[in-house]
This record gives sequence, C-alpha cells and structure tokens, in this order.
Amino acid sequence: MYNPSSSVADDFINRQEIIDTLEYAKANCKNFALIHAALEKARERGGLTHREAAVLLACDDKDVENDIFQLANDIKQEFYGNRIVVFAPLYLSNYCVNGCVYCPYHAQNKTMERKKLTQDEIAREVTALQDMGHKRIAVEAGEHPAYNPIEYIIESLGTIYGVKHRNGAIRRANVNIAATTVENYKKLRDAGIGTYILFQETYDRESYERLHPAGPKSDYAYHAEAMDRAMEGGVDDVGLGVLFGLGKYQYEFTALLMHAEHLEAKFGVGPHTISVPRIKPADGVNPRGFDGISDDVFAKIIACFRISAPYAGIIISTRESKECRERVLRLGVSQISGASRTTIGGYADKSPNETAQFDVSDNRSLDEIVRWLMRLDYIPSFCTACYREGRTGDRFMQLCKSKQIQNCCHPNALMTLEEYLEDYAAPPTKSIGENLIMHEIENVPNVKMRGVVRENLVNIKNGERDFRV
Ligand code: SF4
Ligand code: SF4
Repeated sequence: MYNPSSSVADDFINRQEIIDTLEYAKANCKNFALIHAALEKARERGGLTHREAAVLLACDDKDVENDIFQLANDIKQEFYGNRIVVFAPLYLSNYCVNGCVYCPYHAQNKTMERKKLTQDEIAREVTALQDMGHKRIAVEAGEHPAYNPIEYIIESLGTIYGVKHRNGAIRRANVNIAATTVENYKKLRDAGIGTYILFQETYDRESYERLHPAGPKSDYAYHAEAMDRAMEGGVDDVGLGVLFGLGKYQYEFTALLMHAEHLEAKFGVGPHTISVPRIKPADGVNPRGFDGISDDVFAKIIACFRISAPYAGIIISTRESKECRERVLRLGVSQISGASRTTIGGYADKSPNETAQFDVSDNRSLDEIVRWLMRLDYIPSFCTACYREGRTGDRFMQLCKSKQIQNCCHPNALMTLEEYLEDYAAPPTKSIGENLIMHEIENVPNVKMRGVVRENLVNIKNGERDFRV
C-alpha cells in the first residue's frame, strides 16, 4: 500500500503506485491542459509530484520539451546562480563482497586487480588532488567487512582532512559507501562527512534482485531504507541516484522522485543531491546487455528532475563526454566532477592499471575544466561552506527553497575561484578568471556583501585562505 511516510521500502517506493503512475503518464502524455497546468506549477518553483513529473517526461511534444528545458535552466539559475561546483571522486578500495553484475568490482570478477590504499597512499592521493586545486571529494569504496570496515573509512577520513599540502585542503568529503547501520552513520557524521551518497541503482525490486545476486547489497529493502537510517544517525544531507540503463528509465525516474517525497514526508528534508550516472563499459561489463538511454532522453530526464526537485543539487560525472556535459549544464546540472581517476591510487600514480570502476569519457585536466566552464559563462566553484557553517538538512533546505542560498553560493564561488587562480591556474586560465571575477563581483546584490568579497579577494591575493560566507 503506497505510503510516502512509511518506513518500509515497499510502501514508500510502492510498485503498484509506480505502475499506476506510468499508466497515468501514458494516458495523459497528450493532455495539454494537464501538461500546461504542471508546467505552470513548476514555474512557481515549488517542484512537482512524481505523477506530474512522469506526465511531463512522457510528453514528446517539442514545444513542451523546449519549455521544460528553458524552465530547468531558469530554475537552476534562480536557485544556485551560474556557479558550478567542482569535485573529484577518491577511490579507496575495490575489494567488494557484492555481486552487482554491472560493476567490475563484483566479487566474482577474478580478472580485476584488487587494491586497497594504505593511509600513506591516501595521503599521497589527497596531496595530488590538492595540487590540482580540488577542495571537495567523494570518497568511494567497495563493500568488504574485512578489507573496508567502517573503522578503515573513518581513519581514512581523518587522513583526508588532515593533509594540508601548500595552500591545499580537502574541506568537504562526501562519502559513497555501502548501506550500513544507524550506529555507523553516526560514526560517519562524527567524522565530519558532507553528503552521504548511495545510489539505489534500480528501484525495480525484481531487477534489483536479479542484478544483485550475492552479498549484503542483494537485500533490496535494506538498501532502499539506508537513507532513513542515515537520517536517524544524524547525517541529514543525503544524495540519491540510479544507474540509468539498468531498468526502464520512466520507472527509475518516478521511483527516485517518490524516494525524495518520502524523505520530505518523513524527515522534512529532501535529497541534497540527485546523481544521474549512465551505465558505461568496464572490465567484465557489457553495457549492450542493458537498457541504455539516448542522449536526448538523458537530457530530458535531467531537466525533469530539475523542475521537479528545484532544491536538489544535480550531479554529472566524467562518465559523460564533454559534449554531453556541456548540453546538460544548460538543463539544471549544478555539480560536476573534474579530472577524475576511477582507479585505486590513480591520482598519485597515473600509470595505467586494471583497477578502474568505469571508463571516463571526459579526460580533461581540472584546469581545462575550469577554463571551459568560465568560457561558458559559469563560475567554477570550489565552495564547501554550507556544512562547515552548519547549513545542513532542513536549515539548508529552508535557505535553498526561499532562493536565498545563492546569496552564499555566488560570493563563495568567487572567493574559492580566486584561491584556485592564485594557487593552481595556468596563465590563460588565470587571465580569464580574473576578468570573470571582476565582472561577476558586480552581480553580488548586497552592497555590504560585495564589500566583504572585495576585501577577501585582496586578502587571498595577499596569501590568506579559506574565506566563506
Ligand atoms: Fe561492490 Fe559497489 Fe561495485 Fe556493487 S557497485 S560490486 S557494491 S563496488
Ligand atoms: Fe554549495 Fe552551500 Fe557553497 Fe552554495 S554556499 S556552493 S550550496 S556549499
């Protein structure tokens, strides 16, 4: 029985409700009165229900699609401005006991070289990341009680936050590790993580059980209810995602929005982020065996997420090509990874090895990414201010939904970009960046804040670091 407030996965991601929603969407995909009413509602910036969103996703009218795309861009600009937050993944270990058939780290893959970083190796990785200019990372590890217990993750977080190379620092470590217990989520919170990220992979229980034949992850409900336990453990910024290509995209899209509605209904806080990975080639994984989605469908999914959950950060990784990323930046994406290595130890040691989780399509350096974003009129942002200022969970959501977060995002983007330009940028990047900052500072609406930013920019040029609002 569908119940968004229930603690039971099959209630809040109720299969019958998804099937009914998809039938409703199919029946109404040419009901323009309903479609325009949904678009009007989305224009008020309050988001959409999963049913309204499913109808828009199902509608293939070109004018409606263009309206959705335009609105997605407008909403992203209005909530977050033109800043794009940049981060990198850090893979700690590819030991894994699970059997996910789409992932080369699955336990049955005997050709995969297995590696787990020592604390010294982690420090070297972090140094390499800092030397590129990264301030924000996503920590990734397979699930293995012996190799990667929670104690290893906590110790690694201490190492990550402890490394300070030259002017570098990792100021926010988001964590993407297996579903775990409330007690372990408390430990992660106490270690100072940013967002806890866990992809459901597929919300279709039947497919889920087929694609996860072994290991603790095979328990669909335990996985789907993980965000509830994270919230109960005090981690109030959580990131949802599915691996598009595993199941029917309409099903996954609807279910993910139902998951978001569940978190809002039960905890008063929707997902901090939504990730939209698509299945890619990797060792022992043939994406042709899956239900891949085209670039056009992918773009529309992202735009529909943006207008349905305007408060959520939308993340796109280097799995996608430069061209694809450029397109979806205009459709609501607010965070991207840059210069990612998906091998274990791949930042400090760039020589090829066989430990990658997936093939990267966008192989540009961080400096190239920064320059590219600026040429597209975005401000690359290395901001990590919110959780460090206690703006998490409902405090963050309140600011975001009232469109005030941009008053923080914009100044912080300028100040962290200035740090990047001073410490890491190549001369052409620095020159473009200085012009951009000079121009963008005029767009800080509050005069007092503009003064603070100007002063801090001078302080950064004089060698001081880590200003934030
Ligand atoms: Fe292990 Fe995660 Fe890969 Fe599954 S997706 S095999 S849990 S690393
Ligand atoms: Fe993200 Fe907050 Fe910084 Fe904005 S101010 S970029 S929401 S951390």
